[in-house]
Amino acid sequence: MSQPRQPLLHLISRSLRRRCPLCGEGRLFRLWLRMHLTCPKCGVTFAREPGYFMGSVYLNYGLTAAIVAGVYPICLFQQLLPQNVLLTVGLIFCVVFPVLVFPFARSFWLGFDEYFDPRPPVPSGDSDADEQSGNTT
Ligand SMILES: [Zn+2]
Repeated sequence: MSQPRQPLLHLISRSLRRRCPLCGEGRLFRLWLRMHLTCPKCGVTFAREPGYFMGSVYLNYGLTAAIVAGVYPICLFQQLLPQNVLLTVGLIFCVVFPVLVFPFARSFWLGFDEYFDPRPPVPSGDSDADEQSGNTT
C-alpha cells in the first residue's frame, strides 16, 4: 500500500532550506559538504540504500552542463570575453559551481524521491500523538 504523498511545495521548501523531507525540521548537513546519516529530529535514515545519492549527481551535473552549454556559446559568439579568458572562467565554473550546488542537489534529490516514493511516517515517540492516532501498542 502506498503512503500518502506530501505536498510538492512543502518538499520544495524543505529542499531549499536543506531540511529533512519527512519532518521538515532536522538539518541534512552539519557542514557544507558533510551530511548527517540520519535526521537529528525524527531519526529517519536519509540514504535508503547504497548508492542512493547517485541521483543527486545527475542533478548537479545536469545543471552545471546546462548552464555551461547555454552561457558559453552566447559569450563566445557575442565576443563578450577573449576566448582564453572565457575558457578559463568556464573551467573554474565547472569546478566551483558543483561544490556550491552539492548540498542543494542532495536535498532536492531527497525531496524528489520523497514525492515519488513516499516513506511511511516516522513514529514520533510522543505518547500523546500515539494516543490521538489510536495507536496503543
Ligand atoms: Zn526528520
